[in-house]
Amino acid sequence: MKSTYKHPVKLIGAGPGDPELITLKAWKALQEADVILYDALVNKELFKDLDSSIELIYVGKRNNNHHYSQDEIHTELLCQVFEGKKVARLKGGDPFVFGRAHEEIEFLEAFGIKTEVISGISSVTGGPGSINLPLTRRGITQSFWAITATNSEGQLSRDLELAAKSNATKVILMGTKKVSEIQEVFLKNGQEDTAVAFLENATMPEERLITTTVSKMKLSAEKNHLKSPALIIIGEVVKTLIPIETFEQKLNLN
Ligand code: SAH
Repeated sequence: MKSTYKHPVKLIGAGPGDPELITLKAWKALQEADVILYDALVNKELFKDLDSSIELIYVGKRNNNHHYSQDEIHTELLCQVFEGKKVARLKGGDPFVFGRAHEEIEFLEAFGIKTEVISGISSVTGGPGSINLPLTRRGITQSFWAITATNSEGQLSRDLELAAKSNATKVILMGTKKVSEIQEVFLKNGQEDTAVAFLENATMPEERLITTTVSKMKLSAEKNHLKSPALIIIGEVVKTLIPIETFEQKLNLN
């Protein structure tokens, strides 16, 4: 279908949290936008340096007053395009890593609306990177998995079972409420001594790192009141953590 709309909708990754971890291309696209529809994980500090004429619409799924469904987000996008605006759709991390960007693309393209994706630094890589935690390390691990703890039905992902059998580094997203179930899967696979890192609010001032092992991970999450957003990183690479000044005092090696 030939598009009759002038401007493509730009699906943009904001990076993991630190406002400086946005790409130059993404930043330019935000500056040129008429309206920005943004998610809960986007750091609002980013908006301080934008022209105040740019309209900002929060479409996050974590509002206390209103829970934006995916359908409502689609409708909002459509309304903005129909008004002839340059629309930026801003998501935390990378839009294609558990970001539902592709669903939005499919929806818009069905209306003949063009889209463009501007990748961002995902929390999967940007988070561990910011604390000197390598996802791969020669002689220790040759690959890494990025897994959601829950599938679309809200159940524990079956991929976790497969990952637990592997020597790879496991980066688990959306898992703070599933620590006990995750632990169970890894214990079943003989991984009780494997190292675990909980990385909360990575790259943000309130960042917190807690390290433990599979056998103590449930206890540790409870004791430390683990909160979302957090990554659960399981694998021997966690033992390579080299404390750097900024988070040295937060290290809780147990
Ligand atoms: N598109 C995003 C992921 C969205 S899913 C990305 O590429 O990073 C949301 C999950 O991402 C959260 O539940 C959490 O597990 C993880 N996450 C996102 N930002 C994070 C951050 N700053 N610190 C820790 N985890 C984060």
